[in-house]
This record gives sequence, C-alpha cells and structure tokens, in this order.
Amino acid sequence: MSELEPPIGPTVAAQLLESRRITPEKAVEVRHLTLRVADPAFQFVEGQSVGVVVPGPHPFGNPYHLRRYSIANARPRPEDETVALDILVRRCFYIDEISGERYPGIASNFLCDARPGQDITLSGPYRSPFQMPQDKTANLVMIGTGTGVAPFRAFAQLIYERRGGWDGQVRLFYGGRTGLDLAYANDEETNLADYYDQASFKAFKSLASNSLMSSSDALQRGLRENLDEVWGLLQAPKTHVFLAGLGKIAQVLDKVMSERAGSVEAWQSLKQGMIQEGRWSELIY
Ligand SMILES: Cc1cc2nc3c(=O)[nH]c(=O)nc-3n(C[C@H](O)[C@H](O)[C@H](O)COP(=O)(O)OP(=O)(O)OC[C@H]3O[C@@H](n4cnc5c(N)ncnc54)[C@H](O)[C@@H]3O)c2cc1C
Repeated sequence: MSELEPPIGPTVAAQLLESRRITPEKAVEVRHLTLRVADPAFQFVEGQSVGVVVPGPHPFGNPYHLRRYSIANARPRPEDETVALDILVRRCFYIDEISGERYPGIASNFLCDARPGQDITLSGPYRSPFQMPQDKTANLVMIGTGTGVAPFRAFAQLIYERRGGWDGQVRLFYGGRTGLDLAYANDEETNLADYYDQASFKAFKSLASNSLMSSSDALQRGLRENLDEVWGLLQAPKTHVFLAGLGKIAQVLDKVMSERAGSVEAWQSLKQGMIQEGRWSELIY
C-alpha cells in the first residue's frame, strides 16, 4: 500500500485483467471490468466499494480525481493467491447547464477506455452500507436501477456459490429504460441469470414503456405490477431490503408502498421498524 494526500489516504496498485462491454452498441455503454490486486492485504466483503484514483492534471488544478465503484463479485476464497475484483462501469457524461455542452465524466471514461494490462490505483475498500443477514432463512428483497445491480451480483455469488444456497426468498426488482440497459441481465457470462434456476431466486425486470420514462419510473411500474409479491415479503419479520442505484429509487419505493399501505404514515411505520431492526439498507448515488 502507499499513501496519497488526504482525503484519498491509503492506495493500492491494481492491474486491469479484462474489460468487456456488456451492453450492445446501440445502448448506453456499460462495461464489466476485472482488476487484480497483488497485495494480499487488500481484502473486501460483498457490498463494499473501491475508489478509482485517476491521475492528473485535472481541471481547476485538482491533483487527483476519485470516484467510487461497487464491487460486483464475492470476497476472495481462502485458496485465492491474488485478489480479483469486478466492477460495473457506465460511461458517464455531464451536460454544462449554461452552455449545454456535453463533457465526458473523468473517472468513468478513464475506466471504460482502459486496456488490459493497464495499472490502476485504487483506494478503499470503503464500508458497505448493506447488512447481509447470516440467517439463511431470511428473505432478501433487492431493488435497483442501472449499475446499482453490481452489489446484488456480489450477494448472489455469496449466498449461492460461497454459502452453498439460500432457503429464504430472494427477489430482485430491477428497472431500466430499455432492455439493453439491464446490465448483467443480458450478458450470458456475467449475468444474474445463473441463479434463475435456484428455487429461492426470482428476478423481476421492468422496462420503460416510452422514451420519456426514466429507469426509476420503470422500476415503479415493475413494483406496481408485482405489488402483492413484494408487499407480502415486506410484512414478513425476516425480510431484509436492499436498495441500490442512481436517482429517485427510494422515493419511488416510498410512493408505491405508501399507496399499498393505505397512508404515508402506515408505510413509514413499517419501514422505520425495519430500519431499527437493521433490516433496511441503501446505497443511492
Ligand atoms: C458508493 C458509490 C458506488 C458507486 N458505484 C458505481 C458503480 O458500480 N458503477 C458506476 O458506473 N458508477 C458508480 N458510482 C458512481 C461513480 O462513482 C461516478 O460518480 C461515475 O462513474 C461518474 O464519474 P465521472 O468522473 O466519470 O463523472 P462525473 O463528472 O463525476 O459525473 C458525470 C455525470 O454522470 C452522472 N452519473 C454518475 N454515476 C452515474 C451512473 N452510475 N449512471 C448514470 N449516470 C451517472 C453524474 O450525476 C454526473 O451528471 C458509485 C458512486 C458511489 C458514491
């Protein structure tokens, strides 16, 4: 490990092993990257994220540009000699509100353009906001949009591959603007579909019905279409809820569930109970 000035702190050297586009050419570019960290002291658990430190020079004299990415695979096995980690990166742009011009996002474009063999500096891993229960009979409701699905892939690997199966019900509600946006749901080698044949796993993919709908809107539709299923699970005392992704997904869930509960207060009371019992966690960026 080496040390960069605060606020970045300790860093570790990684090498890009593989970079694969997992959305088709016509869709928003999302890539699955696999990195290798040679330092065995770098250990992580599911739900954590890493920082990617893009070397400068950068605009406004910033020496570094740091952005975080959720780790999309389960922790290393004891027999693994090196630490491999997967991340899911969407190529981002931002629009200048005054000029209307589009600029490439620094970190996501750096990662999407990186080639195998390239050295990449990482910071972290950072604390996971998620609390995965040890109890195999607990129900897991995972709700996300876009790249928010990354930590859910890590959880699916953990419970089905590393822990050998899960007895509680596992439900993934996943919203995208088009089917092409649904990273990991489309790609054959890296997808969550590997777990579709598990008796306890079920995924609900929901898509926008018109070009004005966002992925959060699509998620809202998917939740509404499967309301009895999700509502039934939310009543169960052993259900844990995980939210991840960009934008308004927390508001969407609050809206749909308040309607189902009959009032905002009734839903908030159920949700607060889950928060207090450590059965609710979210990562919104
Ligand atoms: C804990 C945490 C985990 C994250 N995990 C992931 C991840 O697994 N995969 C990932 O691609 N990003 C993830 N992000 C977002 C990521 O850190 C960067 O913000 C993103 O890559 C844009 O950085 P940039 O330097 O390219 O552009 P910036 O100049 O920082 O941002 C460009 C624009 O892109 C928008 N944007 C940022 N992230 C996304 C996104 N994922 N999808 C759509 N638009 C976005 C921003 O709102 C902004 O308008 C995560 C953020 C946090 C805080």
